[in-house]
Amino acid sequence: MSATTAAAPKPKYAPPKVADQKMFVGGKLVDAQSGKTFDTINPSTGQVICRVAEGDKADVDLAVKAARKAFESGPWGKMNPSDRGRLIHKLADAIETHKDELAALESLDNGKPIADALAADLPLTLQCYRYYAGWADKITGQTIPVDGNYFCYTRHEPIGVVGQIIPWNFPLLMQAWKWAPALACGNTLVLKPAEQTPLTALWVARLAQEVGFPDGVVNVVPGYGPTAGAALASHLDVDKIAFTGETTTGKIVMTAAAQSNLKRVSLELGGKSPNVVFADADLDAAIEGAYFGLFFNQGQCCVAGSRLFVQEKVYDEFVHKMVAKTKGRKVGDPFDPATEQGPQVSQEQFDRVMGYIDAGRNEGAKLLLGGNRVGQTGYFIEPTVFADVRDEMTIATEEIFGPVMNILKFKDADEVIERGNRTFYGLAAAVWTRDVKKAIRLSNSLRAGTVWVNCYDVFDTAAPFGGFKMSGIGRELGQYALQLYTEVKTVYMAT
Ligand code: ADP
Repeated sequence: MSATTAAAPKPKYAPPKVADQKMFVGGKLVDAQSGKTFDTINPSTGQVICRVAEGDKADVDLAVKAARKAFESGPWGKMNPSDRGRLIHKLADAIETHKDELAALESLDNGKPIADALAADLPLTLQCYRYYAGWADKITGQTIPVDGNYFCYTRHEPIGVVGQIIPWNFPLLMQAWKWAPALACGNTLVLKPAEQTPLTALWVARLAQEVGFPDGVVNVVPGYGPTAGAALASHLDVDKIAFTGETTTGKIVMTAAAQSNLKRVSLELGGKSPNVVFADADLDAAIEGAYFGLFFNQGQCCVAGSRLFVQEKVYDEFVHKMVAKTKGRKVGDPFDPATEQGPQVSQEQFDRVMGYIDAGRNEGAKLLLGGNRVGQTGYFIEPTVFADVRDEMTIATEEIFGPVMNILKFKDADEVIERGNRTFYGLAAAVWTRDVKKAIRLSNSLRAGTVWVNCYDVFDTAAPFGGFKMSGIGRELGQYALQLYTEVKTVYMAT
């Protein structure tokens, strides 16, 4: 067939068409009480994808009522733990059946490359639901040999109605981190997805309904933070609030929880993670890891290694090689499977990141690559590398959440431990070295919830994740998350 007669090959992945969306409350798709909607935007084009029901206090009230009813009197509370586990497994299976469509919807709403959605977001989401499905019938208390004639034991009971507020950087995965342990422990829940990316959460809610979750067990109320989010955090009939987002918002959520009913609070917040490369490291591996650890997901990761400390002996070589590698990064259409970097999620985030790039320039960091917008539509930013960054510069102290790498020079271990810890964040850290003593010293000394040694961004549902200092409260994932979603009851029985 000649090129002129051949039909254009159908692209493997294409932006899906999406109808306007309602919210999911008490097992039904409903409009907002106010009738209001908001637009969700395609960050690749700046165009509206569809309108979404805009929840606020009245809708949160209805959702909490539905969740309370499901917790107190529905079939959920009486369900065998193993059947609860089977339902979570069924939800995972349903997500897997629709994984290509969900990945495409995630790329459309968030802008992340389809290759990343398929290779990271979907498999990690499935792993999370399946891991906690297994926990549903393994949540045990203790029998305790107390003094006197008593039989004493503990029960780990569900907390009750759980409110969950998630960000836009990994919408499906953050939903899984919140839903899977909460459901395994027997809670009911109300989720508020980020206003930038509400679409996949609503789809997963519909899948939960299809596989047989009783009405009211899961509810999704899309809307804005200061309205719907605040209503959830301050609700008197919500027993626990789980939040992932910025540290400043985390403080607001915790204040609201304290001032309403002292609901339990878990927070996964921001970071400014030190990534330390010693001269004795496998330099090529360190470059690969530092590149991935910063640029992955358009730099929109709370664990981004955004303070990259390189030892002076290899500093020039490292910087040179990093710039050469970053030049090859493919920025563009998220639906092209070869794309490595899509747009930032929104105009607001785009402006914020460009503001940080200006700050880096103005405060005297050396801009070696990038720093500009890509194209005229959408929110694309060039992969950007600053060298000769100093600790006090804005780009070295504030979370950027964009494709902006900051490289700092250091002399020795003592110095880099002190400088690495000079931040009020403590989410993650990494160290690259061939010296096992140095690896252990640094991983013991860096004050962070996760330390990666000769690797970066390794995540597994079985291992806990969370922050020291102002990066959060509590640990998600692994067995630790069960503590976030249960109350411990002590029973004394006179014998
Ligand atoms: P980001 O900059 O990543 O959007 P935010 O902390 O602003 O981080 O947002 C994370 C989540 O918190 C979103 O779902 C957002 O709507 C919600 N949120 C924002 N402000 C508030 C608030 N005052 N109360 C409760 N939730 C909020």
